[in-house]
Amino acid sequence: MGCTHDCESCSTSCSSKSEQSLKIELNELSSVKKVIGVISGKGGVGKSTVTSMLAVSMQRKGFQSAILDADVTGPSIPKAFGLKERAKGSELGIFPAITSTGIEVMSVNLLLEHETDPVVWRGPVISGTVKQFWSDVIWNDVDYMFVDMPPGTGDVALTVFQSLPLDGIIIVTSPQELVSMIVEKAVKMADMMNIPILGIVENMSYFQCPECGKKHSIFGDSHIEEIAAKFNTKVLAKLPIDPEFAKCADTGTIEMYVSDSIDEIKLS
Ligand code: ADP
Repeated sequence: MGCTHDCESCSTSCSSKSEQSLKIELNELSSVKKVIGVISGKGGVGKSTVTSMLAVSMQRKGFQSAILDADVTGPSIPKAFGLKERAKGSELGIFPAITSTGIEVMSVNLLLEHETDPVVWRGPVISGTVKQFWSDVIWNDVDYMFVDMPPGTGDVALTVFQSLPLDGIIIVTSPQELVSMIVEKAVKMADMMNIPILGIVENMSYFQCPECGKKHSIFGDSHIEEIAAKFNTKVLAKLPIDPEFAKCADTGTIEMYVSDSIDEIKLS
């Protein structure tokens, strides 16, 4: 009760205190106001696409957005934004890539010689990379940073939860997943780490026929509202299967795509 998540100024002894000590320092030249983790139960449900769209939407609303791509073994953020140049650095730190609308991005793909090079690294190396994206990158005046988390609740997800000062998490699901179980796992993990869940985005929720306008539930009927209510959270958006969406994400033009459902999400 009344927890401000600022353990340094708090005298209460509680379980989250030991977690707090694992937090790592932001680069002294960086400024990041809010950090939001985007998670999913498994790969391929659209977590990276939703992360990108959230950053695009907040940037359009006038906030400085950033994306920290913690999905180190499956980095798809640079591709969605058409970023090809390798990140540059100086003795002060690494500079994030800047997208055409000004979003700051750091991803392992910006450091590899070829974007097709696989990341064949063990867990601790991957976790160390994510920590360095926080501590060694110079994030310039960021209002909202979105962290594209690796799918599931493994080693790297745990590192992000423990080392970065997350203000909240957003869960991305699709109707064909074992949604209830996945949401429950995410809720429990976030509870253990004392991080609020901001809500659920159901991706690939339906397909709207361009001819007759009828909505079809391709992956079966959605039960996301009941599931959200069960876990005391809310549905932030239900996104359709949209070939245009896939085209923009796959051709590096995600900043051209406008989603009213994403724009309606209120994070501030
Ligand atoms: P994840 O990060 O969960 O692994 P991605 O965001 O990389 O998933 O999405 C997987 C693929 O599905 C990508 O090719 C992406 O363009 C496509 N995709 C994601 N969401 C949608 C959608 N709502 N409609 C159509 N294609 C989508």
